[in-house]
Amino acid sequence: MLILVVNSGSSSLKYQVRDTDTHEILTKGLIDRIGESEVPDHRAALLRLSEEVGQALQGKKIEAVGHRVVHGGERFSQPVLVDNEITRAIERLSPLAPLHNPASAMGIRAVAERYPGIPQVAVFDTAFHRTLPPRAWRYAIPTPLYRRYGIRRYGFHGTSCGYVSELAADFLGIPLEEFDAVVAHLGNGASVTALQGGRSIDTSMGFTPLAGLVMGTRSGDIDPSILVFLAREGYSADDIDSLLNRESGLLALSGNTDMREITSAAEAGDQQAELALEISAYRLAKYIGGYHVAVGGARAIIFTAGIGENDAAFRARVVALLGALDVRIDEAANSVRSNEVRRISTADSAIEVLVVPTDEEEAIAEATAETVLAAGRE
Ligand code: AMP
Repeated sequence: MLILVVNSGSSSLKYQVRDTDTHEILTKGLIDRIGESEVPDHRAALLRLSEEVGQALQGKKIEAVGHRVVHGGERFSQPVLVDNEITRAIERLSPLAPLHNPASAMGIRAVAERYPGIPQVAVFDTAFHRTLPPRAWRYAIPTPLYRRYGIRRYGFHGTSCGYVSELAADFLGIPLEEFDAVVAHLGNGASVTALQGGRSIDTSMGFTPLAGLVMGTRSGDIDPSILVFLAREGYSADDIDSLLNRESGLLALSGNTDMREITSAAEAGDQQAELALEISAYRLAKYIGGYHVAVGGARAIIFTAGIGENDAAFRARVVALLGALDVRIDEAANSVRSNEVRRISTADSAIEVLVVPTDEEEAIAEATAETVLAAGRE
């Protein structure tokens, strides 16, 4: 099937047209600065997208549209065929993802207007983590806060996590239902997930994608009292939001968000850059150790996304901290550059360490095609 994959951000829209039979990308693009004069809103962005796609496809027809939707709340545990009620449900979840869910709902409506009658599927970042047991998703705060506001752990990066875990299980020849592993998705946003029997049983991101690991500009876990302290010092909610989401993480520690630059600075003797790498690796190693326990002994540790796939030095730094688990890296295998699934641990390592390239668009295209075909059979 020919699938248009749409990823609507707060001020940008990324798209790809994928053929799910050949796995080919027919065209892709980015429309940014939505909200400025040339592209006032997501509807205008969608019109521009349809022009660009129309020209690139030269008469070939898109058969379905798959949308990446950040928040599916407690309702959505798998991709769904979109109708008006589903679109409204995505909108109602906006308080949980104020920048992303409204953009997705607008994108869905604009597609319906531009391509009337085309099947649309919503693929949720949170859906893969709907299998979390209460012990992992409940916060130890009063129940009314959960009931009234939905304050609980949701987890994100689920589409990527599901995709790489299938590839990894396949690579190792382990049936997915028996696959226990730890997945480290390390991109601009970063998270770790504990997989038991191929399902997510714990994950480092929480109520929002701010929790857990040190990220490009996000703090990850901090003592919540710091927020209270700052509020008493006169910081507003917006100040704190911006501080923790956009001015923290690697940027705050090293003055930079790009791992390549941080690594070369550290190699050149920049102590702040070195400390930023140490903190990031240490935090991740602690999560891996914890999740190894949570899943009852992981068979594999999986590195994926921009940093996980490309940054051999960071992978080596993390694995070096896992000596207590008898995990050992094969330096030669680790330094090989490739777009394939590969093993980077030694033959005597107690846990396999894999690098698995992720492809969220491919996963969304496949989920969209499957959902549309299944609905057609009903
Ligand atoms: P993603 O969000 O998956 O696109 O990942 C983006 C992150 O990957 C950025 O922090 C980049 O610094 C990092 N990244 C991409 N390529 C490399 C590379 N060759 N070495 C180190 N980090 C990289």
